[in-house]
Amino acid sequence: MDNFGVRDVVTDPPCGEGDLGHPLPDSPYAVSVALPHWEHVIGYEEGAPKVLDKLRTGYPRFFVPRIVRQLEIQCLSEIGAGSDELCSIYPDEITAERCAGYIRERTDGWPVRTERLHDKGVVAVVFPAQIHRVAADYWRYCGEGISARHATFLLGQGECRQGEGLDARAELRDGIAKDCGQGSQDVFLFSSGMAAVSAVHRALNAFAPGMRSVQFDFPYVDVLRTQREMGDGNVFFPIGDADALRELRQLVESDSPPCGVYCELPSNPLLRSVDLPAIAEITRPFGIPIVVDDTVATNLNVDVFEYADIVTTSLTKYYSGKGDVLAGAVTVNEASPLSAKFRVALADGNGDKSLWDEDAITLLENSRDYHQRMERINETTPRLVNWLETHPAVERIWYPAGETRQCYDMVRRPGGGYSGLLSLLLRDAGNNSAKFYDALEICKGPSLGANFSLACPYMFLAHYQELDWCESLGLSRWLIRVSVGLEDFTDLRDRLERAFAAIGH
Ligand code: PLP
Repeated sequence: MDNFGVRDVVTDPPCGEGDLGHPLPDSPYAVSVALPHWEHVIGYEEGAPKVLDKLRTGYPRFFVPRIVRQLEIQCLSEIGAGSDELCSIYPDEITAERCAGYIRERTDGWPVRTERLHDKGVVAVVFPAQIHRVAADYWRYCGEGISARHATFLLGQGECRQGEGLDARAELRDGIAKDCGQGSQDVFLFSSGMAAVSAVHRALNAFAPGMRSVQFDFPYVDVLRTQREMGDGNVFFPIGDADALRELRQLVESDSPPCGVYCELPSNPLLRSVDLPAIAEITRPFGIPIVVDDTVATNLNVDVFEYADIVTTSLTKYYSGKGDVLAGAVTVNEASPLSAKFRVALADGNGDKSLWDEDAITLLENSRDYHQRMERINETTPRLVNWLETHPAVERIWYPAGETRQCYDMVRRPGGGYSGLLSLLLRDAGNNSAKFYDALEICKGPSLGANFSLACPYMFLAHYQELDWCESLGLSRWLIRVSVGLEDFTDLRDRLERAFAAIGH
């Protein structure tokens, strides 16, 4: 049995070579995992057993938690599956059928079926091992698969407090609604940020069948993937500048207008903000919805509801802070002319029951100090950015206060800050980046918004198969993304200093 809960990853980050695979935080439900060296990231991306075998956990949409794997094996045996069959477990029929449909559409006649496990109340999607990659893609894009806590319970090792779960979801909805000034009935909870995004995407496709979506500026990897893989196609404006606005206007006024416009405020990883008033001026007369993802800024720092019809948030990040639960929210703008339609579309299906009881209870508990944490992060990060900007080893820093700041400021709340995510590029990056990263004494792995600072070679981790394409759009492969946590400014600066020393600065 694995030992958890021993190491405080804030004060003692597992960042050395021997720490590969350490859960971040030190919990069986950690959503991040230590990839302390640049080579580990490459090994992870290439599926190298010497890296994968060491991972005690991983980001749950990308790395099926080991406890969920155990449940899969048990389910396969219970349903008498063939030796060449595998399965993914979903919490209910609706999500399982969606997964099965996705796999069937992309594979040529392979048998894919769903099997209800009556004693467990969950549904297995069973497929031949040969097409496991397609099933893994769906698991990743839709983020609706069963959670590690749920699997633990079904294996008889955890609890399920249904009544408290119901209360926790209600309290979460109330809290989010209060923070962003919307009604509780307009907040919908999901099992991940991507589950929230894909629910909105399904709604948009249902409202305007056959119409493409627009992605305005370069977003978080799976937000673009989902639009490309599901629905009726996507028009991508990788840089959301004045030229893109002009093209957007042409598209909106054409005879094939988009079903909706997606943007992030600010974007991940370049921390750029789009001109929301300008987009709204173009789309509103045509009733085309604007979908804004406020995950990186958080709803405490920005209020995008003057322009957004609907907002998606990965609660996995700042809202949780602890990094031990995956969750997402969709908030409908009650003033949007489309609000009634969105409410109906989002309440349909599995609704917020998809955030499992124990995950909701954990998230609620984690969110208690959300306001204080954001205040601290808003304060530490700009100090670090100011220091890094003048550092001789640094070529360029990306931070919302420096990138398209006027666009961010247009929706910044009074007293709101610029949050905790920055990206940096070193001078002579090809030679220095891996050395610097390897020497950096903070947690290193996927995710952001955790209470502990977290760095990663973001492009290698998220875009390994398309690095050249990304570079053609202005995203250097050597980008190092840093999510600032609750540590002291001086502590973090000292840790960065030592990494700079490793590259001769
Ligand atoms: N939106 C943004 C901006 C993100 O950065 C992420 C994840 O990193 C997501 C959505 C997806 O959230 P989740 O991983 O909780 O599904």
